[in-house]
Amino acid sequence: MNVLITGGAGFIGTHLSRLLLERGDHVAVLDNLSTGSLENIQALAGHPSYSFAIDDIANALVLDRLASQADAIVHLAAAVGVQLVVERPTETIETNVLGTHAVLAAARRYRCRTILASTSEVYGKGVRVPFREDDDLLLGSTSRSRWSYAASKMLDEFLGLAAHRQYGLPVTVVRFFNTVGPGQTGRYGMVVPRFVRSALLGQPVTIYGDGQQTRCFCHVQDTVRALVALLDHGAETSGEIYNIGASDEITIEHLAQTVIERTESSAPIAYIPYSEAYAPGFEDMRRRVPDTTKAYQAIHWRAERTLAQILDDVIAYERARL
Ligand code: NAD
Repeated sequence: MNVLITGGAGFIGTHLSRLLLERGDHVAVLDNLSTGSLENIQALAGHPSYSFAIDDIANALVLDRLASQADAIVHLAAAVGVQLVVERPTETIETNVLGTHAVLAAARRYRCRTILASTSEVYGKGVRVPFREDDDLLLGSTSRSRWSYAASKMLDEFLGLAAHRQYGLPVTVVRFFNTVGPGQTGRYGMVVPRFVRSALLGQPVTIYGDGQQTRCFCHVQDTVRALVALLDHGAETSGEIYNIGASDEITIEHLAQTVIERTESSAPIAYIPYSEAYAPGFEDMRRRVPDTTKAYQAIHWRAERTLAQILDDVIAYERARL
C-alpha cells in the first residue's frame, strides 16, 4: 500500500512510518517540521520505500501530487500540545480546520482511504467515564482558548464524516487518548517526557494543579498497531469513530512519584497552579478514560503495554539523549 502520512515527521507519524515500512508498505511523509523533527525523517530517509516532502499541508500543489500517488492518507498533521494551543490559538484553528479541509479535498480527488487523527480532548468536561464514541461532547466557553483545540478537532471529525456520508469517501476518525513512548518531545507540555527529563536531570518534577487529576497512557507502539489495523479494515471501519487509548488510570502525582522511582532520582516534586502553567482560568479535566470496546470489536485491538514498559522505554530514550 502507498500511504501518505501528513505530520509524518512527528512522534506518532515516525512510529507509524517505521511499522508500515517494516511490513513492506511505501510511505510518503508531508510535514512542515513545526513540532516534528528532521532527525525523525533522517532516521528513515535511507529506506527505499520512504520519501518525504518538507512542506505545509496548506501547499495545495504538493498535497495534490502526494495524494495522487497514495492509496491511503493518515492525517496526523495538526497544532498539538496544550501549551502550543494556549499560546497560539489562531494557528491551532487554522492548521487543524483548514489543513483537514485541504487533506479531505485531495483525498476525494484521488479516492484515498483516509484516517483522521482526533483527540480525547473532544470529550471536554464530560464526567461520565469511560468515554464512549457516541457520548455527548461538552466543551468550555470560547473565551478559554484551550477549548479551540477540541473544537477544531470536532470540526475535523464533522468534515471527515460528512465526506464519507456525502461522497462515499472511506474516512475513519480516531480519537487518541494520551499516547506516549520514545521520541515524544516534552517541549509542548507533554507530561511524561517532561517528568522523565526533569527526574533524570535532578530538577523539580513539576505538577500542574493538585496532581489528583488522572490520565491513561498508551504506548505509541500500541497506537500505531491500531492505525495499521484500521488501514487494513477500511471497508468495515469507514464512517466510524474509534477511541484509541489505554484504560489504566493513574493520578499525575502518582505518575511523578513512579517516574522518580524508576529513574532512581532524588528530584523533588513541585506543584504550580494551572493559571501559572498555562493561562488564567485554564480548565482541565479530572479524568479521561476511554472505552475501547468498539475498537476491540472492529479490529481486535486493545492496548497491551503497561505503564512500567512505557516509562522504561521513555527513560531509556531520554537517558540516551542526555
Ligand atoms: P507531533 O507534534 O509530534 O506531530 C504532528 C506533526 O504535524 C509534526 O511533525 C508537525 O511538524 C506536523 N505539522 C503541524 N502542522 C503542520 C502543517 N500545517 N503542515 C505540515 N505538517 C504539520 O504530535 P503527535 O503526538 O505525533 O500527534 C499526531 C496527531 O495525533 C495530531 O493530529 C494530534 O492532534 C493527535 N493526537 C495526539 C495525541 C498524543 O497523545 N500524542 C493525543 C491526541 C491526539
